[in-house]
Amino acid sequence: MERIYDSRFTIYDCRMSLAENIETIQRQIDAACQRAGRAPDSVTLLAVAKTQPPEVVTAAAALGLTLFGENKVQEAKAKIPLCSGRLRWHFIGHLQSNKCRDAIELFEMIQSVDSLLLAQELNKRAEQASKTMPILLEVNAAGEGSKFGYAPERLLAELKELNALPRLEIQGLMTVPPWSPEPEKSRPHFRRLRELKVQCEHILGAPLPHLSMGMSGDFEVAIEEGATLVRIGTALFGPRLAAKRAATAGTASET
Ligand SMILES: *Cc1c(COP(=O)(O)O)cnc(C)c1O
Repeated sequence: MERIYDSRFTIYDCRMSLAENIETIQRQIDAACQRAGRAPDSVTLLAVAKTQPPEVVTAAAALGLTLFGENKVQEAKAKIPLCSGRLRWHFIGHLQSNKCRDAIELFEMIQSVDSLLLAQELNKRAEQASKTMPILLEVNAAGEGSKFGYAPERLLAELKELNALPRLEIQGLMTVPPWSPEPEKSRPHFRRLRELKVQCEHILGAPLPHLSMGMSGDFEVAIEEGATLVRIGTALFGPRLAAKRAATAGTASET
């Protein structure tokens, strides 16, 4: 059987449709902002580059995207040096403490801090690197057993201790709601995150600028509920699983 997957073609196709996808998404962002009475520049598109090769990231950067996200430190460490352009990277995945040192080097924000222990380790590594690391606190807003993220009550209880870590700068909250084909199902979780941010601001006595919420399927609803960072992969770059399956099928047929 022939190989289905040829990375040159994939990247070429991707470049063709990438410009269209960016334009469509930007229009949707602007329209959602307008519905919500928000300024269009109050929302930043973060391109989720996980599983995408560096060529695709470089193509996206050439089309004007500047902010990218990765969910695995290992993958980011290999990929980031191969991407050209002036790119900024956020970490959006589950972070293990033995990866904190690399994460501090690679990323300009860690969006997925979900325990005091992890925060303390990041603080230590940031100190060693003479850096201050902006972070978001990840919240498991729906209380799903299988998901990472702070339970809201626990976050409120630990917030002052988190805020006391001198090398971390808490800039807001992040959440991944339960997957659903209906974007409206995400709305209560986004609303909960917005309300939780207000509670955090009261505790800290300072405003928190960011709410990172909304992915390909529900970013418009997230913007209506106050998102400042929308993390979009599939709607920009196409489906990840299908590409992987095709690649795997191609490899399997060779053996
Ligand atoms: C993969 C991922 C995204 C992007 O999801 P899409 O549905 O492909 O847009 C956003 N946030 C996190 C944390 C992710 O892991």
